[in-house]
Amino acid sequence: MDRPDHHKKEPVEVICPKCRYTEIIYLPVDDLPLCPKCNTQMMISELLDEGKSY
Ligand SMILES: [Zn+2]
Repeated sequence: MDRPDHHKKEPVEVICPKCRYTEIIYLPVDDLPLCPKCNTQMMISELLDEGKSY
């Protein structure tokens, strides 16, 4: 049985703590990407959760 929910991807913004370069990635990921500019491991900036209306 194939459950569509299981493949749902969560967009998150990641930011480089050094040069502030940002990028959108889709969770789940194994590792956070490296910054293409300075090769530093990027960190999650914010969750872009548009699916929730509170
Ligand atoms: Zn950087």
